[in-house]
Amino acid sequence: MFLKTYSMFFKGLNIFEIDRVFFDDFSHHSQSEQKKVNYRTKQVLKWVYSKYEDNPELFTDLSKPLRSELNKKFNFRSLDLVDYQFSKISNSIKFAFKTLDNEIVESVLMKHPGRYTLCVSSQVGCNVGCIFCASGMFGLKRNLETHEIVEQLFQIQKFIFEREGKRISNIVFMGMGEPLVNYRNVLKSIEIFTSDWGFNISKRNITLSTSGILPRIYDLVVDGVRVKLALSLHSPFQHEREKLIPIAKKYTIDQILKAVEYYYLNTKRRITIEYILIKDVNDSVNHAKELVNLFKNYNMKVWVNLIPYNSIGNIYFEDKLLEEPKIERIREFENIIKDYFEVSVRWSLGRDIDGACGQLRRRIISN
Ligand code: SAH
Ligand code: SF4
Repeated sequence: MFLKTYSMFFKGLNIFEIDRVFFDDFSHHSQSEQKKVNYRTKQVLKWVYSKYEDNPELFTDLSKPLRSELNKKFNFRSLDLVDYQFSKISNSIKFAFKTLDNEIVESVLMKHPGRYTLCVSSQVGCNVGCIFCASGMFGLKRNLETHEIVEQLFQIQKFIFEREGKRISNIVFMGMGEPLVNYRNVLKSIEIFTSDWGFNISKRNITLSTSGILPRIYDLVVDGVRVKLALSLHSPFQHEREKLIPIAKKYTIDQILKAVEYYYLNTKRRITIEYILIKDVNDSVNHAKELVNLFKNYNMKVWVNLIPYNSIGNIYFEDKLLEEPKIERIREFENIIKDYFEVSVRWSLGRDIDGACGQLRRRIISN
């Protein structure tokens, strides 16, 4: 792909930045300054984020000189769709993109009646290193740029709009990467997802999932990010959590839950707790009871999402092969906690299409 070295990536910019670059007007300094935005800029944004058209040649209500001006000043594409697979057992589609520097980025579209949810990636790889996760297996390659995060939604929205006339209503940051390690770019992508000049998706319909990067949880409150927060807890016991999620050594469960409670009290958004159930590791009655006890110390509304482990190959935890628990064990765990929390079990969508995060990338790389 031809790269215009000095131009900007359109999908990484907000309305004010686009306006300034488009009209060479750099007299305003604040990003959010409410100066009058040229109506041409609004027209262009409408093409891209409402009509899902990002080829300026086709912006027919703009003059030819303006279209070529746009073409000169901005890059409109930064990802190439290289693969997609429809799941045979669930209504999901997995997409793989290639970046300009040949990295693989993946996203999954989950179709539910009345609600289309896109799971986006925020990094290439991940350096948190959870033992059960394919994304972390190769460490962190790099953060995704804002335009690369936005581009995932753009291209998949265009794909599904052209086929089914449907709009994506929900976004979850549960693909590859730890979104709070790529804080600034993730926040900027949320701005573009939620603004009325952007995709205009409600903040309530966006979920940011984190392994628990403590200082950034407080930053989310300070920065006024009002999306839903999901915490990947995976164990109520500190010593065990540290073994599953290496970053847990840095921040204790208590510190993280205090931060999450602070987020809840400031945003009133129900908190999701993600809990991967791994056979004979963290799926015992004792674990379930301790999970209930743990939350008695905090004042927040919690939804527990139980995720049966999705195998990513032969991985061992203290000599035990990581496996999915039997269904009876999952139900038993659910029964113990369901009087205290709202609970759902996330039956892996699309195991047949390498459902868990990082798995499609791994297969493409190894081929
Ligand atoms: N880094 C963030 C978001 C991406 S991971 C986080 O960890 O929360 C999104 C979810 O997928 C996490 O809850 C993670 O624990 C889960 N996940 C990762 N590998 C999995 C596997 N092999 N089986 C089931 N869930 C997995
Ligand atoms: Fe990173 Fe999340 Fe995977 Fe852990 S589960 S390695 S934090 S992407």
